Amino acid sequence: MTHRVHNFNAGPAALPLPVLELAQRDLLDYAGSGMSILEMSHRSTLYEQVHNQTIADLRELLECSEDYAILFMGGGGQSQFALLAMNLLAPDAHADYLDTGSWSVSAIREAQKIGAVRTLWSGADTHYDRVPMPHDYEVDGSAAYLHYTSNNTIAGTQFALPPESGDVPLVCDMSSDILSQPIDMSRFGLIYAGAQKNAGPAGVTIVIIRRDLLERCPSGLSATFNYAELASKNSLLNTPPVFAIYMVGLVAQYLLDQGGLEAMATRNAQKATLLYETIDRSDGFYRGCAQPHSRSLMNVTFRLPSEELEARFVAESIEADLIGLKGHRSVGGIRASIYNAVPLESVQALTTFMTDFRQRCE
Ligand SMILES: *Cc1c(COP(=O)(O)O)cnc(C)c1O
Repeated sequence: MTHRVHNFNAGPAALPLPVLELAQRDLLDYAGSGMSILEMSHRSTLYEQVHNQTIADLRELLECSEDYAILFMGGGGQSQFALLAMNLLAPDAHADYLDTGSWSVSAIREAQKIGAVRTLWSGADTHYDRVPMPHDYEVDGSAAYLHYTSNNTIAGTQFALPPESGDVPLVCDMSSDILSQPIDMSRFGLIYAGAQKNAGPAGVTIVIIRRDLLERCPSGLSATFNYAELASKNSLLNTPPVFAIYMVGLVAQYLLDQGGLEAMATRNAQKATLLYETIDRSDGFYRGCAQPHSRSLMNVTFRLPSEELEARFVAESIEADLIGLKGHRSVGGIRASIYNAVPLESVQALTTFMTDFRQRCE
């Protein structure tokens, strides 16, 4: 029997077991072709079917109309920090950003290398323990776009609703919560997400862009960096990360089989509630890092009374097959990443361990 652990890794992260089993089944002989999907041309009919079905399934899951192009790119989420500005931030314009943590900081830093950027709000003063309320900032109607990070993977905060941006295109780094709940696509100008947290393996970034924005992409921009060029070639301008896209396709089919994003949202809320209740009912032994109204349903961050106890917690959790609970190196503490593919049973195993650990320490 294969040994599988309770996987709380932040990214790359857990994938649904049925998805891994399908990938294993198909590895040597994809659909009777006698080849792996890793070994065939990206121009072959078989691959094109995978590519287009993955786009169609993402469209269905996200209820995303044809007003938007769905692109697959390489370079990870962080490449989009620059590519976004290269495509949509004209030399005479400026872009507005909300700074809700390390990933926002990096997105701002990269965009500043391309053009003019304003930080409308920053949570740095309170260690990024919350996301802003609508009255905390004012979007400038002339901004090229408003950028925010929907889920802050490191701090453990999340926007419950997208920010209001009026007529300014809303741009979202959704790397760590895409496909975790239904979204109203019509609110967004552009969404990008590295796949490796909630949508598949590392290697592909999903970019969803409202087609009217494609007109802004400068024609002088290199073709493989240019959203408009990629959209016109259905992301088959050059060789796309074929295996990662195939895996995203398997994840999308799995999510559709499970009841889509409504069902995911219900399960994710159930998992997060269980974990936050365990924290809140521990008489202060466990302390959540995020303010309650900003708590992430994907990355649950908390502290113990001392760093020594945190180190012991991590060491003993590994003994109990609970993997990946050490907080990000920049902030310390404990972080449980409970993306779509982490089952309720894993969260139950964690809360049982937490209750037991606390009793042993007190
Ligand atoms: C992980 C992460 C990134 C970085 O993605 P890479 O693919 O490693 O470049 C960017 N933004 C958020 C919100 C993330 O969680």
